Amino acid sequence: MYGTGLAKGLLLTLRHFVESYADDIRYGFRKYHHSTDNFAIRQGTKTKGVITVQYPDEKVAVPERFRFLPFLIVEDEDHPTRAGKDWCTSCGICAKVCPPQCIWIVRGSDPNTGRPVPDPEAFFIDIDICMNCGYCAEYCPFDAIKMDHDYELASYNRTTHHIHDKKRLSKPNSYWRGIAPTRAYEEMLARGTWEHKDAAKEARRGTASSRSQPPRPASAQPAVAEAAAASEASAPAEATAPAPSVEGATPWSEDDAKREERRRKALERKARRAAKRGTAF
Ligand code: SF4
Ligand code: SF4
Repeated sequence: MYGTGLAKGLLLTLRHFVESYADDIRYGFRKYHHSTDNFAIRQGTKTKGVITVQYPDEKVAVPERFRFLPFLIVEDEDHPTRAGKDWCTSCGICAKVCPPQCIWIVRGSDPNTGRPVPDPEAFFIDIDICMNCGYCAEYCPFDAIKMDHDYELASYNRTTHHIHDKKRLSKPNSYWRGIAPTRAYEEMLARGTWEHKDAAKEARRGTASSRSQPPRPASAQPAVAEAAAASEASAPAEATAPAPSVEGATPWSEDDAKREERRRKALERKARRAAKRGTAF
């Protein structure tokens, strides 16, 4: 019948309109108390009606898998062995895969020998060209570049503010742990640590002082916490099997031990061959 859809739409609008007031009454005067908790409750999944968010005084939490611009991970300042060190090795893969080609990297070099070193001397991203695809983060073999949640980047000066340099792009690993989506958290559990691969390897070998790995911080964003809880509740039985410890050094797995044994034997063979030839190993 003509007009049925129109009537349904109007009824829905009317319902939202009425529910806004009903929810306002239920919520009471707490809306005048600008604390994060109150706002999170008000903007939670159970809220009904149409809500006006008083941006920029109030901000709705972004979904946990929201991604905006890439940032580079550096070690936390309190890291026992790698404080402030870049995870990026300036391999250039992210710059190669970036569809609009908005990444520039300058590889560092040893001041004495002039040979390249795996450290970026400079790293730039033109944020006006970046299309937020996340390819760079997907392809980085060292997990050194991730997508950020920060979306408030408007400014009037394109040349100085919209070309992010290494300093502007670098954020500590602890920041990444705070915003990482549930999938990244699960990946970390499977790997046993949030640490950089090299630091994890050192910790396993016991050559570095093991650092207590704080678990994923209870996020300031309720949506993230809710999603994590929901994911845990709905995860299949095998996914909830005891996860490897994330406390500091991770124990050797059988596979790791075998791999290390093979590596040791290969090195011995190589040393024997070098000795036979009389060359340096
Ligand atoms: S792919 Fe990763 S390690 Fe390689 S240059 Fe890009 S951020 Fe650095
Ligand atoms: S998110 Fe996409 S467009 Fe932006 S820097 Fe990474 S690869 Fe390039």
